[in-house]
Formats: sequence, structure tokens, C-alpha cells
Amino acid sequence: MNAGDPHRDETPWDIGPDSHDDKLREECGVFGVIGANDAAAICALGLHALQHRGQEAAGITSFDGHEFFSRRGLGQVAENFSAGEAIAELPGHVAAGHVRYSTTGGTGLRNVQPLYADLASGGFAIAHNGNISNAMLLREELVRDGAIFQSTSDTEVIIHLVATSRYPTLLDRFIDALRMVEGAYSLVCMTTEGMIACRDPLGIRPLVMGKLGDAVIFASETVALDVVGADFIRQVDPGEMILVDFDGKIRTHRPFGKVSPRPCIFEHVYFSRPDSVFDGRSVYAVRKEIGAQLALEAPADADVVVPVPDSGVPAAIGYSQQSGIPFELGIIRSHYVGRTFIQPSDGDRHSGVKRKHNANRAVVEGKRIVLIDDSIVRGTTSHKIVQMMKDAGASEVHFRVASPPTGYGCYYGVDTPERSKLLAARMDLEAMRDFIHADSLAFVSIDGLYRAVGHKSRDLGCPQHCDACFTGEYPTSLTDLSRREMEAAQLTLPVNKVA
Ligand code: SF4
Repeated sequence: MNAGDPHRDETPWDIGPDSHDDKLREECGVFGVIGANDAAAICALGLHALQHRGQEAAGITSFDGHEFFSRRGLGQVAENFSAGEAIAELPGHVAAGHVRYSTTGGTGLRNVQPLYADLASGGFAIAHNGNISNAMLLREELVRDGAIFQSTSDTEVIIHLVATSRYPTLLDRFIDALRMVEGAYSLVCMTTEGMIACRDPLGIRPLVMGKLGDAVIFASETVALDVVGADFIRQVDPGEMILVDFDGKIRTHRPFGKVSPRPCIFEHVYFSRPDSVFDGRSVYAVRKEIGAQLALEAPADADVVVPVPDSGVPAAIGYSQQSGIPFELGIIRSHYVGRTFIQPSDGDRHSGVKRKHNANRAVVEGKRIVLIDDSIVRGTTSHKIVQMMKDAGASEVHFRVASPPTGYGCYYGVDTPERSKLLAARMDLEAMRDFIHADSLAFVSIDGLYRAVGHKSRDLGCPQHCDACFTGEYPTSLTDLSRREMEAAQLTLPVNKVA
């Protein structure tokens, strides 16, 4: 979606510029703090810890009890908020922030969050992680009724729905608005009365709550609480809405009734930082367990287990411990890859991988390798890494993947290539093995993944997670997608020619 964007830097566990097209990408991280003297500075620090969730843009909005202040910019958090002057522009004891890599709405400053609007009830700022899967339909209806949109972001739909709701209080209008949207949302909002944090009824995207002295904090991941020195209190429950006023009083509402939650299982596989706790489980421990499950399900006769850095490391440790095959760093990652490095030529597609990762010949040469990565999306990077191992003298490369085949797109706030580009949607296992030139290829099973996350198996009648990118079973309606597909079908109806 944003190929060629100079702001597309690598996350800590990416493989280089062309790997951006070969990983699913989490789209956003949110952070909010209320009741702190230096709210904007805490918010900037928290966003920095969430940088892996979006590197395209960052924004912070603060409120000093009278006025809202906002600073939003393209690029990473440090580029926008490391200077004292930037933080000084954001006074007040409450602040909300956002890091973004866009799913819906594309690039551009007007889509950078938090989005802000003056409503009849006063100022309203919103930071959103997720994606609203009926946003286009709602937007068309709102525009027909006279709404004028400032951005192309799906999040702005929520603002307009709040603004046009006929309920008397802001809280009721907000609930009314959220009842109309479908899809995934973890929201941190600021009003003139305090902060509201809420999570969609299925809890698809994460959101946690912490405490720093008297201040209350909300963040996409626990790692942001750790980094600002806050204590983890609990996750915001699926379907829960938590209000914190300026006196620190906390009220909680569950306006959507009880639904079985479906948190995104890919947070465990790749999106969340390994030092976070998601859905009550250490992400690092789960990733190691996925590796152990892989070793049980797909053993290999090999000399060393090698992770694709950094995303494959915990699963490779788990595979090694379960199988008894030694773990070795057979690929070394450069930590000094510049973002603006110019490729020698368009044809040299290997250089993007090589300048980020290099084979450690001392480990690899003459060895049978079990190569572990978190996922295969298009397969182009996997192919290059396998080739890199063989070029360095590996006698065999057995590729093991710490997630099931990714055969479907995500419509809940993750950037996925169109389905026709997903390797698993195009090929069977043997064809994929052949495509990446591995000696063998295996993925962890969906039940193996569920076991690693702490379940006996996947509940077929009511899956415990969203796993739609592996199974194609989406937990919500996908209204906009269905409408697009219907329109496309109509466009391709055969034309009856009269002879
Ligand atoms: S489709 Fe995949 S990436 Fe998207 S929310 Fe569901 S499990 Fe997560």
C-alpha cells in the first residue's frame, strides 16, 4: 500500500526494505495517560515503546483543562517528539497518542491520529487501533446526510457518528456510535471530562491498563507500561468501556452484552513485542512453545537450529530445546541499516535482505539447517534466506514456520497483501517448498498454535481467537468487502451481444 514511502523503516524484527511486503504489518499502537504532570512526555515514551506497531506517523493530543493541543507528524516517534520544544507544545495532565501504519485511508498528515473534532459537548480526540469493516458504507450514509469529512481514515466515521447521535450524554452518544460500527477497535479518547478507553466486543486488538503513581495509563501493549515505569493493572476487557475523570475516578461500562472474545492470535505469533504480555500470556513464552510444538509436529534430521532474526528467535529456541538440536545464530542481523540506502539496481532484489542479514558461514557451512521464521506471506524473503544459507554452504535447509499457512487477508487493522499474492493462497505445501527452494517445509498446525497459546485445541464451534488469516473464518461481518465483491461481480457480468 505504501511501497516506496521513505518513512517505511524496518521494525526490530523485519528483514529489510523488500521484506516489508513479505510480512503482515500491525497498523497502529495507542497510548493514553490521565493525571500526570508530564503527560505528553510520558505519552511520547510510551509511543516509542510501541513503535513496532507503526512507523509511518505519530501524533499526540493533550488537554490542559481548557484547551486541546495537538502535534502530529509523518515519521517515527523520535523524529517528532524527542525535542523538548515539541513536548512543551503539549501542556496538560492528560494526553493521548498514536503510532500509525495505515490500513484504511492511506498516507497523509490529515489521517495522522489522534483525530480531533469540536463536538456540541466540547473537544473530542480519538486514537484508534484496528479497522472498521463497514466504514465505507457508514461514510457514504453520513456524507449523504451532509457530513463533511476531513480525512480518509475509517476512524473519522466514529467521530461523525458520535456528533450526529441523538442521545443526550456524550457517553450515550459514544456507545450509540460504536453500536453501528463493525470490525476491530481499541480506542483511547479524550474529552473535556476525561479519558475513555474501550475495546470492541470481540477484543480483536489488544488494550491494557496501568497505573503510574496517581496517573492512569492505557496502552496497546504491556511493554509500553514497563518502559514508562507504570504497573500493569489489567487488560481492558473485550467490549469494555473505561472512563477516567480528572479526579482519577474510574467507571466501567459493558454496553455491548457478553460475547465470546476473539483476540487476534497473530499478536502472539508476530505483532506484539516478545517482552509484552497479551491476553494473560507472555508473548515470548508462547513463541517458544510454538517452536516446541513445531518440533513435535515436524521433526527434522539436522545439525543446527537457526532463527531468522529477530522474529524467529523465540520459536527457534523452543524448537531447539524440544528437539535437542543445538541453537545457533546462523544469520547475523545488522543493526545499522539506514533507511535511505539506495539499492544498486532494481534488478538486485537480494541486496535488501543481504544488507540487513548475513549468513554466518562458520555456523552454516556443511551443516543441515532447521531454519525457523514466524510466518510466510509472499514467500519472496523466505526464498532469499534459504538461498543465503545454501550460498554459505548449508548442505540441507529445512524450513519450519511458527504459524499455519497465511492464506487469507486481514480486515481488522493489519496490512495484508491481496489474497492472490499470498503464497499459501496460491500453492499447496509441495509447491511452496519448491518455490522457496527448501529441502523440506512445514508449518505449525492450527491446533498446535492453539496449544501453544494455552488451549487444548481450537474450538471448532466457537474459536477462542480470531485466526481468520489462517482459516478464512472471519469473526465479524465484512460489509465493505462484501459490497466491493458484489460490485466487482456486477462489473464482470457477461455482456450479451446481439448477433
Ligand atoms: S485476520 Fe489474522 S491478523 Fe487479522 S485480526 Fe485475525 S488473526 Fe489477527
